[in-house]
Amino acid sequence: MKLKNSFFYTIRESIKDEESISGKLLVRSGMIKKVGSGIYMYMPLGFKVLKNIEEIVRREMNNAGAAELIMPNLMPEEIYVESGRREIFGNSMFGLKDRYNRSYVLGPTHEELFVWAAKEKVKSYKDFPFNLYQIGLKYRDEPRPRFGLIRIREFVMKDAYSFDADYEGLEISYQKMFDAYKKIFDQMGIEYKIVTADTGAMGGILSEEFQAIAEIGEDVLVLCPKCDYASNIEVSKCVDVKIKNSEEELEKELVETPNAGTIEEVANMLNEEASKFVKTLIYKVDDDFYACLVPGNRDVNETKVLKLLKGTSIELASPEDVEKITNARVGFAGPIGLNIPIIIDNSIVYMKNFIVGANISDYHYKNVNLKDFEYSFKGDIKNVVEGDPCPKCGESLIFKKGIEIGNIFKLGTKYSEDLGLYYTDPKNDLKPVVMGCYGIGLERIMAAIVEQNNDEHGIIWPLNVAPYKVAIILINPDDAENSRYANKLYDQLNEMGIDTILDDRDVRPGVKFNDIDLIGIPIRITVGKKFKDNLVEIKLRDEQTGIDIESDRVINKIKEIINQ
Ligand SMILES: [Zn+2]
Repeated sequence: MKLKNSFFYTIRESIKDEESISGKLLVRSGMIKKVGSGIYMYMPLGFKVLKNIEEIVRREMNNAGAAELIMPNLMPEEIYVESGRREIFGNSMFGLKDRYNRSYVLGPTHEELFVWAAKEKVKSYKDFPFNLYQIGLKYRDEPRPRFGLIRIREFVMKDAYSFDADYEGLEISYQKMFDAYKKIFDQMGIEYKIVTADTGAMGGILSEEFQAIAEIGEDVLVLCPKCDYASNIEVSKCVDVKIKNSEEELEKELVETPNAGTIEEVANMLNEEASKFVKTLIYKVDDDFYACLVPGNRDVNETKVLKLLKGTSIELASPEDVEKITNARVGFAGPIGLNIPIIIDNSIVYMKNFIVGANISDYHYKNVNLKDFEYSFKGDIKNVVEGDPCPKCGESLIFKKGIEIGNIFKLGTKYSEDLGLYYTDPKNDLKPVVMGCYGIGLERIMAAIVEQNNDEHGIIWPLNVAPYKVAIILINPDDAENSRYANKLYDQLNEMGIDTILDDRDVRPGVKFNDIDLIGIPIRITVGKKFKDNLVEIKLRDEQTGIDIESDRVINKIKEIINQ
């Protein structure tokens, strides 16, 4: 691309409506443009990055033996009603009507259609294995789109589905995808962790996520510095230290705690540690309310509560509902006298003489023990905290934040049974097909790479995904010799398949350098004053200084850099 007569722009001002570094830089560098909340245009430069990412993904999927196809995004709603997922997705699915008032949805994932597609092929046990995938748009009605391309409502996803006769087959198919994903993310130079994750609304046996390490990541990764334990906090097990508490159980006592609705306020008022408290949080799981009790210094883990109750949706009860249930203001909920089912965390069993809300405004109970109330469920319902023992080796756990860029699921037979995908085994018995599904979010990769690779001047693209690998800066386009050389070099590099930009604009050199740095081109060649001595400068984006090199050695040098 020659910049002079092309669609190229950058934005100098800082971008106010983007909160993430990647969001700001991608908009400023003219790669993307916001259309609405969680909806973006991909400008020519951003489109090239997305296509480069797509090609790496496609190549590795094909190498792993998967076959590409394309599915519609607009689908009759009844497909999802039949599979039971219309209800599970709920408000996060976009729905619409056609002119005959028939209901349609925009696909958030495509398990249902891939099962339909598989029916064309699946008859007997001899028809396995196979893996189908597409790279296409997905739609989710995110309640809070944010962080540029990280949480958006229309996005490009690679979704693949494996089909096997049995679980041994699934193991092989799953491992192939696991290996392919590692190759994909390694080629893009992403720093990532693979963690165990929740199987959630997708159902299934095992789920692992590929998480790019980033400060703005919305997932908390629980990692062991000593062994290979790595888990999303959603499913990270708490190992409770079983201490024998020899404290004598006292009689419960009602104490006045005026206007003290938070643990800190009550702790100050009663001069007690937060660890002496038991928090009561009221949740709405599907259509019923439950009280969850965890130690005062811990958080409830909603995924674990949902699992324990085998529910499909969970949210904190509204303040109005809490007041109705407890007959008290928010902040004074407790287990005594509550008439909804109570779930206690495992660790509460080891606590004695603790403090709870009294279900009376401005009052708490102290010296409460398990004998003082009844509970319906007991389990691991709290979040791990940093420093907790590793469930595998006991070492102190550490946390990192991650952006989920890929996930792989062992689905098992859930979808094939629900949607009737069966085959006949050697004994002529009907058996459900064993499935796996495998997703990669392409924009998220783009955002994660920028989050991990930037400096005060802009983006630093790795060579494999950069929109252009080389940028030639022609300092003085009016100098005929300089211009002739730069244009020739530009043609030669492009002919060699090395995507190159020529900055031949009539603007100050500083503007050219700033723009090329901002858009993150990995290799910069400057044709300027030293050209009269037959020298040009080559500088890499991630290095501070460049080197001067004879003009006829440039091509070989570029080849050398790229082959490294
Ligand atoms: Zn460990």
